[in-house]
Amino acid sequence: MVIYMKRAIRRKHYHRLKERWKRICINEWGMNDIKKIELYSSELTRTRKPCSCMMCGNPRRTLKEITRQERIANDILKTYIKDSE
Ligand SMILES: [Zn+2]
Repeated sequence: MVIYMKRAIRRKHYHRLKERWKRICINEWGMNDIKKIELYSSELTRTRKPCSCMMCGNPRRTLKEITRQERIANDILKTYIKDSE
C-alpha cells in the first residue's frame, strides 16, 4: 500500500474494502452472524494475507528456496558478468 495518502482518501478506501469484504462474507461464504461479519471484514481489510500457510507464505521460510525476485536478479547479474568478460 502507498505510504503517503491523505487521510480522507485512506478512510474512503478502507470503508470501500470493508464493504467489499462484507459482501464476500455474506454472499460467497454464507455468513449470517453480524458480529462475525464485522470482525472478519475489518481484519481482512487491514491484512492482505491473513494466513501464513505453505502456499501463501514466503518460499524462503517454508521451502528454503530463493524467491522469484532473487532469481531474476541472479539472472541479470549472470548476463552482466558474461557480457563484461
Ligand atoms: Zn494460505
